Amino acid sequence: MYDVTIVGYGPVGAMLAALLGAKGRKVLVVERDTSIYPLPRAVHMDHEVFRLISLVNADEAVMAISRPTASYDFETADGDLLMGFVPPLELAPTGYPWSSIFHQPTLEKAIRADVARHPNVEVRLGVEFVSYDDSGSDGVRVTFSDDPQNPVETKYLVGCDGGRSLVRRQAGIGMDDLDFNEPWVVVDVLLKEGMDVLHKASRQICDPQRPVTSIPIGHGRHRWEFMLLHDEVDQDMTAPEKLESLIAPQLPDGVTMADIEVERSAVYTFHGVFAERWRDGRVLIAGDAAHQMPPFMGQGLCSGVRDAANLAWKLDAILSGHASDALLDTVQPEREPQIRFITETAIGMGQVVCTHDPEIARARDAEMCAGPREDRISGMPGLPPVESGGAETLNAGLPLAKDPGLDAAAVYQPILIVRSKEDAPDDAGASKVPGLHVAWLEGEGALHDPDGLLAEQLADADALLARPDKIIFGTGKANELLASYVRYLETGNGVAA
Ligand SMILES: Cc1cc2nc3c(=O)[nH]c(=O)nc-3n(C[C@H](O)[C@H](O)[C@H](O)COP(=O)(O)OP(=O)(O)OC[C@H]3O[C@@H](n4cnc5c(N)ncnc54)[C@H](O)[C@@H]3O)c2cc1C
Repeated sequence: MYDVTIVGYGPVGAMLAALLGAKGRKVLVVERDTSIYPLPRAVHMDHEVFRLISLVNADEAVMAISRPTASYDFETADGDLLMGFVPPLELAPTGYPWSSIFHQPTLEKAIRADVARHPNVEVRLGVEFVSYDDSGSDGVRVTFSDDPQNPVETKYLVGCDGGRSLVRRQAGIGMDDLDFNEPWVVVDVLLKEGMDVLHKASRQICDPQRPVTSIPIGHGRHRWEFMLLHDEVDQDMTAPEKLESLIAPQLPDGVTMADIEVERSAVYTFHGVFAERWRDGRVLIAGDAAHQMPPFMGQGLCSGVRDAANLAWKLDAILSGHASDALLDTVQPEREPQIRFITETAIGMGQVVCTHDPEIARARDAEMCAGPREDRISGMPGLPPVESGGAETLNAGLPLAKDPGLDAAAVYQPILIVRSKEDAPDDAGASKVPGLHVAWLEGEGALHDPDGLLAEQLADADALLARPDKIIFGTGKANELLASYVRYLETGNGVAA
């Protein structure tokens, strides 16, 4: 029997497989396609997700082809700034750029390379999930297209099978639609050798005649997204002559169609939807199967990677007998509020961009450009902390700051940070939390903490406890934090009644 069977080997399924594989779990991944999804999708990743992909050794490959976002500008048809987001130049506390532009297939390839290191993870490509039967008491029987007469037995089934998730539909899970539906054609081009970027900023050109997104992916690639006009919805918008008519007017002076080559293109309807439930007994869903958002925040894949990081250690803890099944009920309440915030923000941004009505656009431009230009510029929109399972203490629910030594020593396991070695719990105390890594900030054997970021997160508390997914569980007294964490593992709620 498999511990976990994953349907879908997109970025979320791959991330889940890599994390569970590193934990030694017996995993089966089944993917309908035989190669990585070729069409244009994610280009933006935030620092926290960059750090999460470092847990599966994918950060270096992605870093090699990514570039930090210079700025994210929303412009009127005349080029006036409606609003601009400029990430800080210095690295985020997680050790990565606040915001990066990257190439999704490279990320997926890098995560798959990590999965391949784990002989305990079996990957079947070109095989389709057909159905499941969870009427048994200790597992799920799953039927796949390659051997329909012999269902696979698994303790948990996770649908990472994308927006049209069959796992979700078979579980009878409905969708909550946020009523935002806008059709766009998305096209990636390769720039002629020697050309790196066409311009520095990521731009939303809010021209009511044709809203356009323009993103310098860097390393010789560029992304355009064009909102469809009403009469274009039924046309072949990816035909070469159509793409040329859209792209040519966007090229800067001195660049012609001869300087670029269309690499890939696709039509998508950008929308915001949420699955009503992310769990049905031993069957779970994650990533696009559970939630989808318009790409104006560049957070769909990021949210799915966070889902995988939240889910994998919980499945492992349950399968190891260190946690109760109730821990799985924490995934949706912890993840969904943050994703709803992001989705609603993305829809708000989409509403700024997506209008064909010149009157509405004129009123929008007049209102948003009324004040001084500098007042329209801010940092990148921050994400709210997630519910961590612990008490609402200082920094709970935020990502743990990076210390290179600590990240290498405790890759995907709980970490307790105390002030000095003397403050560390004794072995009996520490052993209550399986796999706990204890570190301290002062004295012999102390963490490096080069920028004092961990000390800042610890603040005046005696101790800080972080979960394997690098989310701070809480700050406080070491023994109380450990007791609360054990309670959380056992009941899904770390707060004492
Ligand atoms: C135009 C566009 C721009 C975007 N930009 C960004 C961005 O900048 N940043 C960001 O974070 N996100 C972005 N996203 C979103 C991001 O691409 C998705 O959120 C992400 O790919 C979802 O990953 P996933 O693994 O959940 O699903 P998918 O990548 O869809 O993977 C699901 C997999 O399941 C497989 N599958 C489905 N059904 C079956 C079955 N029955 N049997 C076997 N296998 C099956 C599919 O073949 C597929 O490989 C963008 C999306 C679009 C469309």
